[in-house]
Amino acid sequence: MEENQPVASMDLSSFEDGAQYIDGKLTGGSGFEPFDVVNPADGSTVQRVRLASTEDVDAAVAAARTALPGWSRATPGERSEVLLRLSAILTEHAEDFAAVETAQTGKPIRLSTEFDVPGTIDNTAFFAGAARNLEGKAAGEYSADHTSYVRREAIGVVGSISPWNYPLQMAAWKILPAIAAGNTIVLKPAELTPLTSVMFARACTLAGVPDGVVNVITGAGRSAGEHLVGHPDVAMVSFTGSTPVGKRVAEVATATVKRTHLELGGKAPFVVFDDADLDAAVHGAVAASLINSGQDCTAATRAYVQRPLYDAFVAGVAELYASVRLGDPRNPRTDLGPLVSYTHRDRVAGFVERARGYGATVVTGGATGSTGHDGTDLTRGAYYLPTLITGAAQDSEVVQGEIFGPVLVVLPFDSDDEGLRLANDTPYGLAASAWTRDVHRSLRATREIAAGCVWVNDHIPIISEMPHGGYKSSGYGKDMSQYSMDEYTQLKHVMFDTTAVARKDWHRTVFGDRG
Ligand code: NAD
Repeated sequence: MEENQPVASMDLSSFEDGAQYIDGKLTGGSGFEPFDVVNPADGSTVQRVRLASTEDVDAAVAAARTALPGWSRATPGERSEVLLRLSAILTEHAEDFAAVETAQTGKPIRLSTEFDVPGTIDNTAFFAGAARNLEGKAAGEYSADHTSYVRREAIGVVGSISPWNYPLQMAAWKILPAIAAGNTIVLKPAELTPLTSVMFARACTLAGVPDGVVNVITGAGRSAGEHLVGHPDVAMVSFTGSTPVGKRVAEVATATVKRTHLELGGKAPFVVFDDADLDAAVHGAVAASLINSGQDCTAATRAYVQRPLYDAFVAGVAELYASVRLGDPRNPRTDLGPLVSYTHRDRVAGFVERARGYGATVVTGGATGSTGHDGTDLTRGAYYLPTLITGAAQDSEVVQGEIFGPVLVVLPFDSDDEGLRLANDTPYGLAASAWTRDVHRSLRATREIAAGCVWVNDHIPIISEMPHGGYKSSGYGKDMSQYSMDEYTQLKHVMFDTTAVARKDWHRTVFGDRG
C-alpha cells in the first residue's frame, strides 16, 4: 500500500490479477482450469477465476512456512495491533464485502449487511483481545527439586478448508484464532464462493499482517484441498464442511499425524414443550429455519412439538412461511434469496420429492416458485420456497439427513422423555433449542440434549465470546471464543532443576546404591 493512501480508496474486490492470494500478493496461479463464480439469483457470472494447481498450494504453504518464525515470535501486543487495524479496515469496506458476499452466495443483502459483515468485524476485534490473553498453569515447584512452567506455543502452518454457506465468516473463524495465536495459515475456501475470503486476506495485508502469514487458495476440494490437508509442511488441519468430507479430511490428516479440528454438519432439533409461548416458538422456528435459506449448520430443521400445541404450531408456521418475500437478494425488502447453486437447489428438492414418495405431507412449499415480491423471475435463479413437512417417520431421510435448505419437518411428541429422546435421535449434535417457560424443564433439556449449543427460547444467535462446535458426528473442536485459542496452540512443559546437584535422588532407579 502506498504511504498515506486512504484505505477506503483501495478496491479489495478487483480480481484482475487473479484469485490466489499467496505471500501477500494476488496472483492467477499456475492452474489452467477456469471456474465461474456464479450468482445463483440469475445465473450470471460474478467472476471467472482459474482454480489453483497443487503447485499453487505448495507455493502458499512455502510462503506460510517462511513467514512462521517471524510471526510466531511477534509479541501478542504486535499481533493484536494488526488485528485491531484489520477490524477498522473491514469496517471501512463493509458495504463492499456485503455486496460481494450477496453476489456470490445469493443471500439477502439484509443478512450480509446485518449479520455476516458485522459479525466478522466483531470477531476480528475479539481476537485482537484474545491474542493478548493466552493462559497456562502457574509456574511453580510441582516437584520439590524442580520449577516447572508451561509455554503455550503456536503449532505451525495451519491448513484450513471452509464451506460456502457463510464464506466471509467461515474464513474469519479460521484465520483469526490461527494468526492471533502466532500460526500462519493457508485457507482453501469452497470453490463456489472464494471471493470474500480473498478480499479478507488482502485486508489483512493492508492492516500490516506480514506477507505469507495469511494465504488463500481458490481451488477444488479433491485436488487443491486434499493436497493441502496431506501436505507434510502443514502441522494442523482445521475443517468446516459436511460430515462425509470431514471424515475424508480426517483420514488424510491422520496419515501424516496432524492435529485436526472438525466443524461438521448439523440437524438441529427445536423442542417445543406444551407450556411454551406459542407465538415466540412459531416466529423463532420460521426465522431459525429460513436464515440463509436454511443453509446454516445450526438451522432449526426438526421441530418436535408437544401434542397440545402441535396443530396451532403447524398452522402458525405455515401462515408465516406463506408471507415470506422471495426476490432479488440485493433488494433490502427481500427475506429469502436463492440457494447457493442450481445443483444444491435440486438436491434439496430431491429430499422433498422423496419425502412425498414415502407418504409425508408437504403442508406448504415444495416447489421452486415463479415470481418474487419485487417481480424477480424466480425460475432464473436457484430459488426454493419455504417448505413445511409433517407426517414423516422419525427414521426417514427427511428427519435424519442434512437437507441444508429452507425445509422444516414438524413431528408431535407426548411426554417430555419422548421429546428429549427424539431430539437426540440423529447422528448429529451441533445445536438445539428448547422452548418452555418452566425452569426445571429447561434445565433438564439443556443437560440432556447432546449438542455443542443449546438455546432456551431462542435459536440461532452466536457471539464472539462463546464457543461454537459440535458433539457426535458434528465434529470436535471449538470456533470463536477464547476456547478456540486452545485449538491453535500446543503446550510445552519446561522443567528446571533447582538443586544444582549432579547426582539426583531419582538416579537411584538406575544406579541403585552405587549412585
Ligand atoms: P463440503 O463438505 O462439500 O465442502 C467443504 C469444503 O471442503 C469445501 O471447501 C470443499 O471444496 C472442500 N473439500 C471437498 N472435498 C474435499 C477433500 N476431499 N479434501 C479436502 N477438502 C475437500 O461442505 P459445503 O457443501 O461447502 O458446506 C455445507 C456443509 O458445511 C454442511 O454440511 C454444513 O453443516 C457444514 N457447516 C458446518 C459448520 C459448523 O460450524 N459445524 C459451519 C458451516 C457449515
